[in-house]
Amino acid sequence: MPLADRLIREIDARRDDLIALTQDLLRIPTLNPPGENYRDICEYLGKRLQTSGFDIELVRAHGTPGDSEKYPRWNVVARREGGRTGECIHFNSHVDVVDVGLGWTKDPFGGELIDGRIYGRGACDMKGGLAASIIAAEAFLAVSPEFCGAIEISGTADEESGGFGGVAYLAGKGYFSPDRVQHVIIPEPLNKDRICLGHRGVWWAEVETYGEIAHGSMPFLGDCAVRHMGAVVAEMEDSLFPALAQKRTEMPVVPEGARQSTLNINSIHGGQTEGDADFTGLPSPCVPDSCRMVIDRRFLMEENIDEVEAEVMEVLKTVEGRRDTFRYDVRELHRVLPSMTDRDAPVVTTVARAIEKTMGREAQYVVSPGTYDQKHIDRIGKLKNCIAYGPGILDLAHKPDEYVGVEDMLDSAKVMGHALIDLLAGDHDRPKEEGGSHAFS
Ligand SMILES: [Zn+2]
Repeated sequence: MPLADRLIREIDARRDDLIALTQDLLRIPTLNPPGENYRDICEYLGKRLQTSGFDIELVRAHGTPGDSEKYPRWNVVARREGGRTGECIHFNSHVDVVDVGLGWTKDPFGGELIDGRIYGRGACDMKGGLAASIIAAEAFLAVSPEFCGAIEISGTADEESGGFGGVAYLAGKGYFSPDRVQHVIIPEPLNKDRICLGHRGVWWAEVETYGEIAHGSMPFLGDCAVRHMGAVVAEMEDSLFPALAQKRTEMPVVPEGARQSTLNINSIHGGQTEGDADFTGLPSPCVPDSCRMVIDRRFLMEENIDEVEAEVMEVLKTVEGRRDTFRYDVRELHRVLPSMTDRDAPVVTTVARAIEKTMGREAQYVVSPGTYDQKHIDRIGKLKNCIAYGPGILDLAHKPDEYVGVEDMLDSAKVMGHALIDLLAGDHDRPKEEGGSHAFS
C-alpha cells in the first residue's frame, strides 16, 4: 500500500485518541491573562511526545512581561530526529486561551463532545490545531520511522498577549534559526482548506491633548482638552478615514472588509476619571486639562510605517493650525510590520498540494487582519518559510461556546501528514522496509 494511504489509515485509526487529546488539553485552563497552568500543559505535552520518541525541553521565558513565580511563562519544545539527514518541520501552537466571557451554554473547560464537535475555550483557537498536529506527526512516525530530517512540535505561551513570553522568547534564543528549522506551520484556526500567508501590520499609539483646569462654571478661564480631542476626531473623520478607505491591498486579507487600511479608536478618556460603580456622589465641576486617545492602526504591505505615523501627525498639525492653544503628544505603544510569505515558498506549495490531495480542491490563500506569532518567526527568527494552517472556524475564536469539529481536525491532520511525507519521507514510494538501503543525503 502506498505510504500516503497508510498514513491516512493511521490517522483515521487515531480518531478516539485525537478526541481524547483535545479534551485533555481543554481541561487544563490556560487562561491568559494572567497565564495560568502553563507548566501543567507543558508537562502534559512533554510526557505525551516523549512517549512518541521526541526529546523534550521545557523553557521558561524569564523576565518577559507577566513572568513571575506565581505565573511563570513556560514553553515546551519537542524534537524528534529522523534516521536520515534532511530538513526540519516545526509545528508551533500557542497554549494560552483568552478569558471565557459570558453567554456559554457548555462548560468552557469541560471538553464536551456533542454531535462531532468538541466544546471549550481554546477548542478552535487553538488546542484543536495543536492536537491535530500531534496526531499527524505520530501517524507519520508510525509509517515512516526512518524519515529524513526532524519534526518539532512546540506549545508556547502568551500569543494572545503579544507572544513575548512564548515565540518571541524562543526565537531570540535561536529556536527558529534557519539552521535549525526550515519550515514552520502554525495550526491557527484558518479553516482546513486555507493557507494563511501572513498578517497586516500594526501601529498602536496614544495621542494626548492638553488643556488647563478651571471651574466648570467658568470654562473660559480654562482650556478644555476634550474639545481639542474632539477637533482631532473631527479632522480624522474629514481627512484620515476617507484616505484610509482608498488604500487597497494586493494582500488577500479576509474578511474582505479588512483588505484596506483601517484605524480603530480603542478608547478616549478625558477629564476626571470615572468613579467606582458603587460611588453615589456627584462629580466636581472642572475643565479637563488632559484627554487621551488610544488608536489602533492596521496597515498593509504597500505602506511604510513612517508614512502611517506621518498621516496621524498631519492630522494633529492641521488641527494645531486652527486652534490657538492646541498642545499634544503622541506616544507609540506597539508596532508590528506586515508579514507575508511568498506563494512559491516551499511550505506554501507543499501544504497547497496536501490540501488538494486531502480535500480534492484547490487551496485558498489568505492573510489575517490581525497579527499572530508569525511576526516573531519572521522578524526575530529570520525565517520566512512560515504559514498558519489549521482546523476550525476563525470567527468562533474568543466567542462563547467555542468548538472545533472532529472531522475538520482529522482532515487537517491528513493535510499536515501529507506535508510531512512530502518534505521528510524521502523516496516515499520505496519505503525503507520494502526498498532496502537508502543513501544518506
Ligand atoms: Zn490563536
